[in-house]
Amino acid sequence: MTALSLSSVNKSFGDVHVLKDIELSVEEGEFVVFVGPSGCGKSTLLRVIAGLEEASSGEIRIAGEVVNTTPPAKRGIAMVFQSYALYPHLNVRGNMTLALKQERQPRDVIAARVAKAAAMLNLEDYLDRYPSELSGGQRQRVAIARAIVREPKLFLFDEPLSNLDAALRMNTRLEIANLHRALGGSMVYVTHDQTEAMTLADKIVVLRDGRVEQIGSPMDLYNEPVNRFVAGFLGAPA
Ligand code: ADP
Ligand code: MG
Repeated sequence: MTALSLSSVNKSFGDVHVLKDIELSVEEGEFVVFVGPSGCGKSTLLRVIAGLEEASSGEIRIAGEVVNTTPPAKRGIAMVFQSYALYPHLNVRGNMTLALKQERQPRDVIAARVAKAAAMLNLEDYLDRYPSELSGGQRQRVAIARAIVREPKLFLFDEPLSNLDAALRMNTRLEIANLHRALGGSMVYVTHDQTEAMTLADKIVVLRDGRVEQIGSPMDLYNEPVNRFVAGFLGAPA
């Protein structure tokens, strides 16, 4: 089963053509990393997949369904941003439950999902705290927990570690890898960090200037980069 597929997806902002004929797919359970330099269109691509931006042309399918006109909340996805984007006026529990309450999930379902996600991310002791009372790493774990409780078909991560210091970045990277193993869901993960891409991905999509440059496993890209750009970017011999 294909979790996500994009066919000839383009996105322009006025005269600025940002995404150019994007073709890619994510299979169920796959961890796919979009990697590329700053400004190449990674966030725009995620936002188009999430429905936060409308594609200018092309087709986006999630679990086989065309979702081009489906609102974000109905796409079966959950997104984790670089900036955490927690609600400052809600405590951790409130941040984790807001979307579930909007979906009118039963109380016992909400309680069970919060307990499970809090255990997975070591947040059990922090449920009554407010974002301002948490460290950067804890806030990012809350953002991830908030995505998990929604039990999405597809997780989208946009540079979730880039605001963390090096040690925390490595810890959180391992945590995300463990989560993927535990949850078994499909994940799309955006980064400009080659190490993250090479260590997390089943499959890497290399983007450059709004185009897909190459798609392959980390080993494929390392051993057989299609050009110097891919080789240089992933640290392989050119
Ligand atoms: P990345 O995430 O890879 O750093 P982005 O997707 O944020 O790149 O941006 C890609 C390009 O699209 C940049 O040139 C950026 O200025 C442009 N862009 C992104 N969002 C908008 C917007 N809302 N309006 C106009 N241009 C935008
Ligand atoms: Mg970005």
